[in-house]
Amino acid sequence: MKQKRFFLSEQEIPNKWYNIQVDMPNKPEPMLDPVTRKPVTVDDLSQIFCRECSKQELNFTDRWIEIPEEVQEMYKFYRSTPLVRAYGLEKALGTKSHIYFKNESVSPVGSHKLNSALAQAWYCKNEGITNVTTETGAGQWGTALSYAAQLFGMNAAVYQVKVSYEQKPYRRSMMQVFGAQVTPSPSMSTRAGKNILTNDPNNMGSLGTAISEAVELARMTPEKCKYTLGSTMSHVSLHQTVIGLEAEKQMEMAGEYPDEIIACFGGGSNFSGIAFPFMRHNFSGKTNTLFFAAEPTSCPKITRGIMAYDYGDVAGYTPLIKMYTLGHNFMPANIHAGGLRYHGAGSVVSQLAADGFMKGIDINQIEAFDAGTLFARTEGIVPAPESCHAIAATIQRAKHWDEAGESKVLLFNLTGHGLIDMASYDQYLQGNLVNYSISQQDIDNFTKDL
Ligand SMILES: *Cc1c(COP(=O)(O)O)cnc(C)c1O
Repeated sequence: MKQKRFFLSEQEIPNKWYNIQVDMPNKPEPMLDPVTRKPVTVDDLSQIFCRECSKQELNFTDRWIEIPEEVQEMYKFYRSTPLVRAYGLEKALGTKSHIYFKNESVSPVGSHKLNSALAQAWYCKNEGITNVTTETGAGQWGTALSYAAQLFGMNAAVYQVKVSYEQKPYRRSMMQVFGAQVTPSPSMSTRAGKNILTNDPNNMGSLGTAISEAVELARMTPEKCKYTLGSTMSHVSLHQTVIGLEAEKQMEMAGEYPDEIIACFGGGSNFSGIAFPFMRHNFSGKTNTLFFAAEPTSCPKITRGIMAYDYGDVAGYTPLIKMYTLGHNFMPANIHAGGLRYHGAGSVVSQLAADGFMKGIDINQIEAFDAGTLFARTEGIVPAPESCHAIAATIQRAKHWDEAGESKVLLFNLTGHGLIDMASYDQYLQGNLVNYSISQQDIDNFTKDL
């Protein structure tokens, strides 16, 4: 029997993250201060983020960044995550291609988000911070941060998008089990929340509203409370590169090199994590790997968004970021069940997409759950709805190569398991999901002021 799973020993787990900002040919446009419109400095960012993450955000000089020993120790509780050859899925598809996946669902909280939550929580702790705050949509980031804060003895306050707070009560309780204080957003506890609710009492929230509230909370007591973010920022992508650095070694153990790398795309952190360590060899001309970001047809910023300066949140508290965006007022359609609803993308991935180093693939939600269900039946893991997009895109690519009569090596990132998202699977199984693509008119409306 051929080997199915590939692991690294504790000694082989990476002790440095890879900073793609050094190697990417065109650097992203600078982030701008929302008030002065001048490029932000480390000092500006440090008013909401911890100092070390602010430095990492603007680091264009150090290719490798040491992972703090305390974080390395915590990584050892679940890393390396397995690289798995998906023989079952290959067989069900009858494909000639070889399909591998990196299984980040084995982290204690069930997703890749912990890779950055541990780093951010530890840096905050090390800088004397006692409280961390953040927003969460589907709940994975809030869960990861709650656990990481608990590990390092800090308080976590999480603003959870109201619609998810109500539809996913187990996410909320999980965060509470880890000791976090969870508030549905928009709430009356901040000025931003009050403004939204005054205009629209039934507002069910979005990541943009929750970010505004969390940032405002951090700004009330900047000396003891910092804001943390689970995606889009360069320092988050940096922390996630542990995924791709491991995968590089594991693919070597499998004796293959990926022709194509596929990841689902919300704000870009897991995509960056698995892709960047491989992409650096494309920059140097050594390889020609293709990179695909799988996004939902209901929130397609890479394929249909515009490249423009935009805020990360509804209230306009965050720096202006040059990125692919559907506009900070974007509201995901209520019928969308699969996560990945953020309106923007990181500045680095946006620049890389603009320069042709990666492509978007839009997946509609029934296709995503079809793929996730096939994967569950053949590989035994119920994937997170977000991850289903990557699986669906991988299946598309395998079929594409079968039609062309070629066999390729495909690697995708399994970002999380879906065991707390069974309500979405229920909707799918009962036939209550419909496909939905955002209309061009809606995109034009959301982006008209950018
Ligand atoms: C948050 C999340 C994503 C999307 O976020 P990215 O920053 O785009 O990676 C994907 N899958 C899971 C399981 C998540 O929790």
